[in-house]
Amino acid sequence: MRILRAVTALAMLATIAACNDDGVVAPSAAGDAAVDRGIVDPAKGPVRTGWIIGEDGRTPVKIGYQVVNGHAIYDGDVGLGPADRIAATAEEAVRGMRPGNTRPTFSLHYSGASIWSDTKGVIAVREVFSPTNLWSALTQIEKQVPGIDFVPYNGQYRHIVVYYGNGSNYYNGCYNGACEIYIGSASASKQLIMHEFGHGLGYQHEQKRCDRDSYIKMIDANPYPDQFSTACEWVQMGGYDLTSIMHYNSREFGRLHFTDWNGYEVCGYWCRSDLSAGDAAAWRKLYPASTIIVDSNNANNDGTVAKYEVSANWSIGSSSGYYGTGYNYASTQAISDPATFWFYLPAAATRTIDAWWVAGSNRSTTTPYIAFNASGTKLGTVYANQQTNGSKWNALGSYSFSAGWNKIQLSRWTTEGYVVIADAIRVR
Ligand SMILES: [Zn+2]
Repeated sequence: MRILRAVTALAMLATIAACNDDGVVAPSAAGDAAVDRGIVDPAKGPVRTGWIIGEDGRTPVKIGYQVVNGHAIYDGDVGLGPADRIAATAEEAVRGMRPGNTRPTFSLHYSGASIWSDTKGVIAVREVFSPTNLWSALTQIEKQVPGIDFVPYNGQYRHIVVYYGNGSNYYNGCYNGACEIYIGSASASKQLIMHEFGHGLGYQHEQKRCDRDSYIKMIDANPYPDQFSTACEWVQMGGYDLTSIMHYNSREFGRLHFTDWNGYEVCGYWCRSDLSAGDAAAWRKLYPASTIIVDSNNANNDGTVAKYEVSANWSIGSSSGYYGTGYNYASTQAISDPATFWFYLPAAATRTIDAWWVAGSNRSTTTPYIAFNASGTKLGTVYANQQTNGSKWNALGSYSFSAGWNKIQLSRWTTEGYVVIADAIRVR
């Protein structure tokens, strides 16, 4: 998404000033449907100004925040930790950093491509509170972002812990390995839970994007006048997405804050039951699946990381034992007419390539698989015997691929009189 990564959250907070609680009344009973939709009830707690230490670890930054359930919350549902740890003055914030002083600095402090790269996208979830829709929300994320795997907590140091938020819903940053999400109702919606976990994965609000004023028109930012500001220092992924799971509804907190430029209200995450296409693409970039399979039928491929290309000279085969949906075959001859399996890597990496084919006595025993990096540099050629070892993954070799679209080409250019089978490859 489109969503801004929380990467430089700190720097951006420098622009946030005090907010006023103007007394908007919002439902307060946990379990109330309106509470489920809303992020933070403006009537929940006082709005204050304080100081924290910025992302550089040194510079005091002035922020506006609301105290909810004892936590300092900014931008509606992003926590800064216990409110009593927010310094009242810049001097206090700086003093708090000295050795021996326990006052913490800002909690949303990440600055990497993924805040879960150390766990390879495996995220343990500890349920102190178990909203009904929790696992349907997590399963939906896993389905659309194969590189993320939520697992039940089993003592892992790094994990997400779900607490009851007493009518309020927010992400509260990470402390000592535990990243806290507060959900205000047992019947909280699936999309709300997905939104809060989006924060836990490192994404911020779509409507804080630097380019948002080209897409939405602010009408009334109260009760968070400054917290509806943009954050131009943050990394933006993809185009602006009014339908993002990380986009607020026009009437968040019970009043009309913004519309699109045609005057229509924006439904945002309220109207979702899944990630938008833009969300899914951006989340997959931060959380790439460790294994990529490229099938000879693009309908089976995750187009953001895998695609297949072949000329019309190749025939479609359907003998049993293929991977995915069917396969292609072509006669061997001295011709440059390969089948190409493309796969995307966000960063350079050494990966092992496996190939799948349907074996048969008319197959080539010297089927050439040629590996290329994203610059088109040839990394190596492997000759596979497709008369045996059919209908399973066969390791071709390991290569140092580069960031971007790498490819494996299956060539027809080998000893004539046979056919070669292009079925699927796996990158691991
Ligand atoms: Zn949020």
